[in-house]
Amino acid sequence: MKKLALHWKIIIGLILGVIWALFSSSLGWSKFTLDWIDPFGTIFINLLKLIAVPLVLFSIIDGISGLSDVTKIGRMGAKTLVIYLTTTITAVGVGLLMVNASQPGTYIDKEQRIDNRIEYELWVSNNEHVAILDETCLTCDESMRDRVAKVAERSKEAIVDQDLTNKMSSAWAKKEQGPLQFIVDMIPSNIFFSLNNNSLMLQVIFFAIFFGITIITLPKETTEPVRKLVASINEVFLKMVHIVMEAAPFFVFALLAGTVSRMAGDDPLRVLEIFKALSSYSIVLVTGLAFMVFAFYPTVMRFFVKGMTYKKFFKSLSPAQLLAFSTSSSVATLPVTMECVEENLKVPEETASFVLPIGATVNMDGTSLYQAVAVVFLAQLHMVDLSISQQLVIVLTATLASIGSAAVPSAGLIMMILVLESVGLNPAWIAIVFPVDRILDMCRTVVNVTGDATVATLVASSEGELTMDDTKTAGPAPEEELEAAAIKQD
Ligand code: ASP
Repeated sequence: MKKLALHWKIIIGLILGVIWALFSSSLGWSKFTLDWIDPFGTIFINLLKLIAVPLVLFSIIDGISGLSDVTKIGRMGAKTLVIYLTTTITAVGVGLLMVNASQPGTYIDKEQRIDNRIEYELWVSNNEHVAILDETCLTCDESMRDRVAKVAERSKEAIVDQDLTNKMSSAWAKKEQGPLQFIVDMIPSNIFFSLNNNSLMLQVIFFAIFFGITIITLPKETTEPVRKLVASINEVFLKMVHIVMEAAPFFVFALLAGTVSRMAGDDPLRVLEIFKALSSYSIVLVTGLAFMVFAFYPTVMRFFVKGMTYKKFFKSLSPAQLLAFSTSSSVATLPVTMECVEENLKVPEETASFVLPIGATVNMDGTSLYQAVAVVFLAQLHMVDLSISQQLVIVLTATLASIGSAAVPSAGLIMMILVLESVGLNPAWIAIVFPVDRILDMCRTVVNVTGDATVATLVASSEGELTMDDTKTAGPAPEEELEAAAIKQD
């Protein structure tokens, strides 16, 4: 009997997780789910992150030390950055187009929006660094006096979410830094410290490239043992990915059960209610993200990569995409993304191991699209008209903020504070979209990971390294190899 492909097993795990969460919450068992099932989701993410950093380290060293031409690194680096930047700006553009065309913020109750507008004007008047962005002034209107007083009273009583406040201060700390700080941050002073910290992935990448290049510059006899050791350690980590992925369907079940239970509490209808209030925003955002995954990337791939088909694209990447959806973290998904890109899309290790880890940290198309949609939605919700030039500022800051976002859950939400601030809007508004953030984060992480994989394939294709034709690939795939096996069985 034909074995069920891994991506189907993961999809089944995912659906069962949601069903279980809704069922258990209707029976009042959410605490049970959170105490006894959810921890397996955290274990899964920890296992993946455990493999991610050493895998990045050894696969980059392995890939680069095998290069015969050092100039290839510079060329590949330049191409990678240019293509990453292009896809990110495209994503922001798609987001802005969609949110302006569909105006999700205007579907919210008009009276509520008027109160929001008054609140915004009051915030501006209490803040000397910002000015009203358009011509309207409701607080100047005499007939609004009582209403303004009521709104002012209410905003004073607004409950401050401590968790959100802490997150906001970390974004502000980032903003205070100088323009070259990001380069300084890339160079580690102690590699063991960088290896210890998932958010310092760029430092690990820098070290690995430096180490790999140094190996090339030394005589082959001197470095042979190191090369062999690195290649062999790399194989061990890849095998670890396979082992963990064997249990992925169960882990994904646990992750989804935990995430949905946390949202629902003991009332499954709460999930619906949370989304109802923000439905227009969620629909526009998910449509934009779906456009990127189902139309933009496959089209670009078909256009630039010989032999690429829609089916092959999704079949090759689906394990990584499903994992991105379940974990909400590009870094946790990285080991599987590398595996899918190398095994299924046939991108050589030296390219995949260079382009993908950089992408996981700096290329976040889904995050930048989300930031653009969310900021304009929030402005519409407060009846603030953003001009073209203000929207161009969003293009720039959303691009930079997505580069600066860590590849972990909710990082994009925090960095949105900087985008809101750059256009002169109230950064505390992130609290409005916070309730639906987790689920939308899952969707935008799929875009982030698909974007990275697409760019890695484009870079390899431009270097003439792709062998899409399966017959040209070395040897039969081992049974346990991810979707590579599934593709070959077909
Ligand atoms: N969770 C996203 C990622 O890991 C980042 C974000 O948008 O919050 O790619």
